[in-house]
Amino acid sequence: MALRHCEDCSKDISTSARRCPHCGWVTRWGVADIFVGVPIITLFVMFYITYFGL
Ligand SMILES: [Zn+2]
Repeated sequence: MALRHCEDCSKDISTSARRCPHCGWVTRWGVADIFVGVPIITLFVMFYITYFGL
């Protein structure tokens, strides 16, 4: 497991961590999750509505 420095508090955090356990700073991966997750959820909801109606 690789470590890198938090951009906010400069402490070591895991590259797989989505936010810093020390200061709560959200990593780029955490931000990317939001940008990727929202369209996927939107697509899923639209698919569900198309298939099953409201
Ligand atoms: Zn931090």
